[in-house]
Amino acid sequence: MKPSGLPSLEWLLFGERFGVKRKAIEITGIVQGIGYRPFVFNLAQTYSIRGWVLNNERGVLIDAEGEDGALDLFIEGLTKLAPPLARIETLKASSIEPQGYSCFEIRQSKGASEGFTLISPDVAICDPCLAELFSPGDFRYRYPFINCTHCGPRFTIIKDIPYDRHKTTMAPFTMCPVCREEYENPLDRRFHAQPNACPTCGPSLRLVDRKGETLSGNALDRTLDLLLQGSIVAVKGIGGFHLVCNAEDRGAVSSLRSRKFREDKPFAVMCRDVEEVKAHCHVQEEEQRLLCSPERPIVLLNRKKSSPIAPGVAPCQNTLGVMLPYSPLHHLLLHGPLKSLVMTSGNVSDEPIAYRNEEVCHRLSEIADFFLFHDRDIHMRCDDSVVQVFKGMPFVLRRSRGYVPFPVKLSFDLEMILSCGGELKNTFSLSRGPYVFMSHHIGDLENMETLISFEEGIGHFKKLFSIEPKAVAYDLHPEYLSTKYALSIEGIPKVGVQHHHAHVVSAMAENGLAGEVIGVALDGTGFGLDGTIWGGEFLRANLRDFERLAHLKQVPMPGGSMAIKEPWRMALAYLFEGFGDKAMDLELDWVKRRDTQKCGILKRMIEKSVNTPLTSSMGRLFDAVSSLLSIRDTVNYEGQAAIELEMAAGPEGKDEYPFEIQEKERPMVVNPIETVKGVVQDLIRDHSPSRISGKFHRTMARLVIETCKRIRLESGLDRVVLSGGVFQNTLFLAFVFDGLKEAGFEVYTHHRVPTNDGGISLGQAVIAHMRCFQCV
Ligand SMILES: [Zn+2]
Ligand SMILES: [Zn+2]
Repeated sequence: MKPSGLPSLEWLLFGERFGVKRKAIEITGIVQGIGYRPFVFNLAQTYSIRGWVLNNERGVLIDAEGEDGALDLFIEGLTKLAPPLARIETLKASSIEPQGYSCFEIRQSKGASEGFTLISPDVAICDPCLAELFSPGDFRYRYPFINCTHCGPRFTIIKDIPYDRHKTTMAPFTMCPVCREEYENPLDRRFHAQPNACPTCGPSLRLVDRKGETLSGNALDRTLDLLLQGSIVAVKGIGGFHLVCNAEDRGAVSSLRSRKFREDKPFAVMCRDVEEVKAHCHVQEEEQRLLCSPERPIVLLNRKKSSPIAPGVAPCQNTLGVMLPYSPLHHLLLHGPLKSLVMTSGNVSDEPIAYRNEEVCHRLSEIADFFLFHDRDIHMRCDDSVVQVFKGMPFVLRRSRGYVPFPVKLSFDLEMILSCGGELKNTFSLSRGPYVFMSHHIGDLENMETLISFEEGIGHFKKLFSIEPKAVAYDLHPEYLSTKYALSIEGIPKVGVQHHHAHVVSAMAENGLAGEVIGVALDGTGFGLDGTIWGGEFLRANLRDFERLAHLKQVPMPGGSMAIKEPWRMALAYLFEGFGDKAMDLELDWVKRRDTQKCGILKRMIEKSVNTPLTSSMGRLFDAVSSLLSIRDTVNYEGQAAIELEMAAGPEGKDEYPFEIQEKERPMVVNPIETVKGVVQDLIRDHSPSRISGKFHRTMARLVIETCKRIRLESGLDRVVLSGGVFQNTLFLAFVFDGLKEAGFEVYTHHRVPTNDGGISLGQAVIAHMRCFQCV
């Protein structure tokens, strides 16, 4: 391509007559490292456009000159026909004086050192690469690291910006002449595909036993044999290691469970294709779209009773978390006799997912029989995302691989802020302009390993997006490690944000809401302004402040955090509340199961307020009822009692239990004690758990709706925002959502950001900005 400068002869002769126009076009979004410039080049050929395209620090710049109509079509195509990974945020085109270019060229990038561009998440292998993977004639036939500019790892391999091969974990691999030619050819699908590789020059697999000895032969074929024989293999993937076994092999599944010290928490399953998913689960249209999307999340689906997947994969659940293969290696593992594999995070109980070859033999040695390594390093660990569908829309429960680091975009600009999130399901956020970069799933910030991962993550995001925070936001809970971390940062303002306010503002931000709303935040635990534990909260909230208008009646938590692990303790607290000394005389299976001496001790603890913090948590009320119904007295993972209560609920009936709204008190108190009494009565009458659970769900929804109505009467507010972990219960969410709509409210809930504590860092960032940088 010859460089253009002076007007060409053709242009001088015909330019005016044919109505030649020239536009300066600036595009922002994910437009780098995903084949956008070659796409622009090809599009320019199609419409005989002359000029150039280049990457700059903000995105892509185009200087385009062509005939009027063709130029319009070209500009339209820049968004409409963009490559699959492109996400166009803005496109600005302004007319300038025609210049008379003779051709179109890709120019050298400018000023990337100042770097602020959006970075693509890791996305699933694309169809052309998949076709090559299984074409015996292709030189990448069965090559587990095949990729192109439209697919493959991004976020997990980038060490620094700008996104260039030498700043990724592909740096140690020198491209062979064939790969290099593809990489340098603007018309090739692998033009500037940073992880481009082939069997000659790229990463490779290695199968290792527990002693660290490499097994001879083809690593992939041997892994397949081992899985078929019932072994558990730690397989290195895109964002970390998975523990993998045959999902239909009951023996393998149960030994994985016992070795991982994970008694009940469901494992995710990876199925060969959509047809295979449909053999195990009911799949609605939106669920299928999510399964097949380039993000490839785990999708929670209703399980079919006939499914041959081992019951131990998801005990006591009607649902199954399923995903489709997203890396070429996954496709290779599922292309043979195995149709579905358990794919659970490679970690021991609460630690973060293992992602380095060095650490994995040591950390997973008690769990995996074999290790399938590869030598492309993972720079940032990233767990699988989890999504379910609510009313035909995605409802993200864990926003991680495939979605991160794509930001949440607001309708206004934020100052640069670091928000540290909560404790469970932690994420942090860093903001810049209209973007909030929410982190990948860090995990439960309860141990050193996770804290290190949290700190490394913050450092990495600051570097990737050139963010130097001007303020830091944190949860008010003084014991959270995220709070302690925030308070240790010196030299910038620190903003403590109430947990449930953060929940509500997170949902407001994702829905683009400003002004005042009724915020309903229902969850397990959140530190309140009065030092008690909140969790059944009705707030009058805006993006800066809130007022607590109503809450669930407080009850004692006998034994503090033990009452979270042992829901029977909450049942006891509610029974004492409702029946006093007669509680232990009730004709209930629940009473028969109790150790009366232990109950006596707890009763005295409650009376003397010893180690019995007060809570208004809705999560704890669900726990208590789960225990009363003999569903769960103790839990093996967070939320288990409430989840199994939801699973038990039958569709029959319209009846509800009574409850009371004590309006004279400020804040108003919503007292569910009559509900608990009603549950007890129904148990004595021998009604089924399915009927009682359904009735309880409807009652709690009614309680929310009636409370919102009272608030509307006084405040005139009619927009309700729903947030908090309790709304992961979609049966309850649907009752609340529909009931509020029926009562004439505008109702908003989460979709792209988790309703659980994984979403609060977004709300924290917005509130901190409003308090520090937005004068009223
Ligand atoms: Zn591809
Ligand atoms: Zn090569």
